[in-house]
Amino acid sequence: MYLKDKVALVTGAAQGIGKAFAQALLEKGCKVGLVDQNAELGKESKDNLDKQFDTQRTIFIPCDVSDEEQLKDAFKKIFDSFGRLDIVVNNAGINNEKNWEVTVQINLISMIRGTYIGLDYMKTENGGNGGAIVNISSLAGLMPVPYQPVYCASKHGVIGFTRSMAMLSKTGNYGVRINTICPGFVNTPILQTIEKEENMGEYLAYKDELKDMMKYYGLLAPSLIAEGLIKILEDDTLNGEVMKITTKRGIHFHEYSPL
Ligand code: NAD
Repeated sequence: MYLKDKVALVTGAAQGIGKAFAQALLEKGCKVGLVDQNAELGKESKDNLDKQFDTQRTIFIPCDVSDEEQLKDAFKKIFDSFGRLDIVVNNAGINNEKNWEVTVQINLISMIRGTYIGLDYMKTENGGNGGAIVNISSLAGLMPVPYQPVYCASKHGVIGFTRSMAMLSKTGNYGVRINTICPGFVNTPILQTIEKEENMGEYLAYKDELKDMMKYYGLLAPSLIAEGLIKILEDDTLNGEVMKITTKRGIHFHEYSPL
């Protein structure tokens, strides 16, 4: 996809990886709808972007992605503001093993809903222009994580859903490519949650083991994950791919052996 003047919706865009996605998309000439439940940080992010890019190229929509009406409304506002929608990045995610149902709600259910709403706008059979959806999983979507079982399950779910939808999109000629990115540890505020009882519950006892894992795997820069996103968006041959990003091997694709 040629990215200049395409319209992207990014959830969880106020900080961390989502913020890096917005920056990279704007640098490629996209217009970006920033969606985040943190209104203060979201506005701050837009203000910072306004110093680098035309203010008309971004819009911030405060929205809790786990609220169906708010999410639908965010899509509508972005579509109405820019007149089209070409890219959806379902990136908003949390780590909460204590209130684990919320983790499933945000990381899995809201990602599914974001994909379905995105397809409603972009599917060629609905009069859309086609486009691309990228769902953010994690290496935790491909391997067990002993102290984050629900986060791990939610991210496995992202991969299964994304690969299935990609096949459906191809057979149904939706005109929308659907892929997922699985980063290793990335240097963002989410990493601080492993120190908090409100996030980790009884697994807080294992925070040092998690810190050791971070040391072992190393931390990635959010900008590298954004580089992976741009690669997926620009390469029209990619559909149903699971992109892994690690400190050891950089950006590469997961290969599945036949069952
Ligand atoms: P982060 O906590 O730094 O940022 C997440 C953003 O999502 C925040 O701005 C937050 O306000 C927003 N958000 C959370 N819940 C929301 C909701 N209900 N509605 C709207 N916005 C909401 O986290 P991050 O590291 O930037 O993570 C982004 C994505 O990448 C997540 O899906 C995460 O699971 C995934 N990921 C992160 C890492 C990592 O090590 N940082 C590794 C692999 C995958």
